[in-house]
Amino acid sequence: MALLPIIHYPDPRLHTKAKPVAKVDQRIQQLVENMAETMYAAPGIGLAATQVDVHERVITIDVSEEKNTLLVLINPEITARSGEQECEEGCLSVPGIFDVVKRSAQITVTALNQRGERFEFDADGILAVCVQHEVDHLDGRVFVEYLSLLKQNRIKTKLVKRARVTA
Ligand SMILES: [Zn+2]
Repeated sequence: MALLPIIHYPDPRLHTKAKPVAKVDQRIQQLVENMAETMYAAPGIGLAATQVDVHERVITIDVSEEKNTLLVLINPEITARSGEQECEEGCLSVPGIFDVVKRSAQITVTALNQRGERFEFDADGILAVCVQHEVDHLDGRVFVEYLSLLKQNRIKTKLVKRARVTA
């Protein structure tokens, strides 16, 4: 297992649309293991492959209190949505920035697990927010893009400055 470097907004690679995984093989299982380790170490509740510069449709999530319920979504699709909720979001690719985003309250998701088996589940609350946030990453979208342009520019300036200081 290995920790993977997480790329930070406004890195243009975050806007790459990820390709579907053709086959859940050992390479993908290794990626899932490394992503889970990276997510837990960060620490974060979700990570999309896009954030570690791998442009394939793989997500790891763990919204449990005890950090013992890993959810692996390969080629996820949100097949149904209803309601609305607003939640303050953060992102491992946008460190230190938190803001409120409006998303669907209930979703139905189908995906493959790390053994390549298809499964389906309903999600609401924080899990629904997290799945929508991570699927956005796979489509090249970062949560700050839901905010006003003024806020987006402020966040960009802040993060670019910080990268210069820490580089
Ligand atoms: Zn994120």
